[in-house]
This record gives sequence, structure tokens and C-alpha cells, in this order.
Amino acid sequence: MDWQIPLSDIDFGQEEEEAVQSILQSKWLTMGEVSRSFEEEFAEYNQVKHAIAVANGTAALHLACVAIGLKPGDEVILPALTFVATANAIRYTGATPVFADIESQSDLNISPEAIEGLINDKTKAIMVMHYGGYACDMKRIMEIAKRHNLFVIEDAAHAPGSVLDKKKLGTIGDIGCFSFFSNKNLITGEGGMAVTDNDEFASRIVTLRSHGMTTLTWDRHKGHAWSYDVVDLGFNYRIDEIRASIGKVQLKKLDTNNAIRQELTRLYHRLLRELTPTVTVPFIDHPGKSSCHILPILLPEEINRNEFMDHMKGNGIQTSIHYPPIYQFKAYKDLPINSKYQLPITENIASREVTLPLYPTQTKQQVKYVVNAVRKGLTN
Ligand SMILES: *Cc1c(COP(=O)(O)O)cnc(C)c1O
Repeated sequence: MDWQIPLSDIDFGQEEEEAVQSILQSKWLTMGEVSRSFEEEFAEYNQVKHAIAVANGTAALHLACVAIGLKPGDEVILPALTFVATANAIRYTGATPVFADIESQSDLNISPEAIEGLINDKTKAIMVMHYGGYACDMKRIMEIAKRHNLFVIEDAAHAPGSVLDKKKLGTIGDIGCFSFFSNKNLITGEGGMAVTDNDEFASRIVTLRSHGMTTLTWDRHKGHAWSYDVVDLGFNYRIDEIRASIGKVQLKKLDTNNAIRQELTRLYHRLLRELTPTVTVPFIDHPGKSSCHILPILLPEEINRNEFMDHMKGNGIQTSIHYPPIYQFKAYKDLPINSKYQLPITENIASREVTLPLYPTQTKQQVKYVVNAVRKGLTN
């Protein structure tokens, strides 16, 4: 489908092309010094001690879960209004995801009160997800975690560059996980990063990323090492030099592109309030600075969402839904624990949410066009 206004679009230019070409010319494609340099720059940008680049955001989440020692029988509290990978990463370790309701229709993030209500002897960790790059209530969540001796993993896939109380999101909990998938704010195609200030978690993640081996092919190529031991049951979750080289260029553009997203979001919010007062717009005046990853709206109860999205499609505008609650998916419904789920706020919002186009190469004119189409879609 050739959308007039797609849901998201990529800001790639000559710099990315040149970066990739230089890797091809160097003939070293697998993880090496460019990946190392991307990690250093990402750590510096986030003001965090360690950044470990991996194959994708899901791998970062999985390694975070392994690093904190999750095992069968453990429980991890997380929102259901997130991408399925957030919960899958927990299940890969044999631990059980326990879904908590979200705050409200103005804050689609996990509710600290709901978290507290679910804590028991088996609870080992809280996995937050900063929806759209808007910060969870980290002050309260970290306080709860401390009181109950729980780890906190941040799924910061939406949130590179987001800030709360002078700290980058992803650096407040024990481990933060980023994704560089093609529709995110910083794009390498597939790619991800785990960040942490904890030396032990970092060294475990580094080892687990590459088969649990003590040296890399790169180290042996450089003559730094001849052999290796295998000290842990690891994975192949490495990034490669091509993706890392794109990541380095994209990281340089991140603040500028996030600023454009923020400006477009302000325009959306103003126009939606003026022209579509029956639509609920979450995260207006939300604490902190958001990466403005996506633009969610909540339709009035009486509007049929499928018809509305069809109407938008008829106007050449791609929309999406973030997200169907995870426990409603077939692969989750069959888990015994899930028969009991009823998260009223999550279910209400998940049934009304529509995501509008938002990307750094979008024009103000296009934002106006989208909001006008929303207005017409409500009166049809
Ligand atoms: C994209 C995304 C992921 C997964 O990242 P991949 O790089 O696609 O594996 C995890 N959680 C959330 C909230 C995401 O949006």
C-alpha cells in the first residue's frame, strides 16, 4: 500500500549510506571496533556506565532477565499494554509474567498502586515500559522496588532520549533495554542495546551475548587472544558492524529528530483539542521530556474503531493500535495464570486507542491533514 501519510518513516541520508559503504570496504562485518564505538557513544549519551549492543530489543530484554537471575517460579510484574516481546522475554527464562493495570486514560503507563497490590513472595522484579517515550512514575516505582527488594528492568524501546528528573529513561532502574527496529526513534533495522551502571550485570550480559565465551572472534583476529573458555549458557545475540555504523549516525540525529517529534506532538495536541474535543489525548503535560515515539489518541466510546481506521485509510493515512492487551493473545490465554485477568483500565483503553502518524520527516501540513481526517471520521 502506498500511503500518503505512513504511520512512521525513516530519516536516512547520505551519512548512513557512507557509513555502510565504509564497513563493506573494510571487509570486517561482524562485531568489532565500530560496534564498540557505538556502545561507547550510546553510554556517553545516556550518562550510564555500560552499554551493550545486541541483535534486537527483545534480545536485550531477554539478557536483562537472565542477568538478574530469573528462573521458573519467579514472578515479574509488568503492564499488559505493551508489545508482546516485553512479556516473552520474561517467559524465555521460565519465570511468570504478572500483568498490572495502567494508571488512567491520561497516563497509559503501569500503575505503581497496581504493582504494589500484586507483590508476593515469588515476585522478583518489575518490568516497566515507558509508553510512547512518556516516563513511568519511576520515583514511586523505585521506592516500591527498594522496599520489597525487587529488581527493575526498563523496557525503553520507545524512549531513547527521554528524560525524567535529569536522568535518561533506561538508566533509572537496574537495566534498561532499547530497540533500534525500523519504526523506532533510532534505527539500525534490527538492533538493540542494554544499559546498566552495575558491573556484574554488564559483564554477564557481555558474556551471554556471545555464546558465553570469554573472547570474541574480533579479539582473536586482532591477536589479543588465542583461545577461549565457555563459562555460561549463552546465546548469539550480537549486533554487527553494518548496523552499528548506522546506529552511530542515527545517534547523532536523535536529539534533533526527537525535538521535531516534540514540536509535531504539541501541534497535534493543540489541533486535536480545538477540532476534536470528544477525542481523549493521553500524556498532555506529562512529567519529564518524552522522545514522542508515537501519538496515541482514545476514540469516544460510541465510535467504531475499525470503521474509523478504514476512514483514515480511505484518506491515505496509516494508523495502528498500541496495543491489544498481551493476556488476550492465544499464546498467553492458555497460561493458567491468565484465566483470572481483568484489567479494566487497560481493556477500556486498548479498545479505544488509535495511533496516528508521527515521524521526524513529517510536515506540519500533514499533521493538519491528519487531524482534519480524524474530525471527519468522528462525524461520519
Ligand atoms: C519494539 C519493541 C520491543 C522489541 O524490540 P525488537 O528490537 O523488535 O526486538 C520491545 N518492547 C517494546 C515496547 C517495543 O516497542
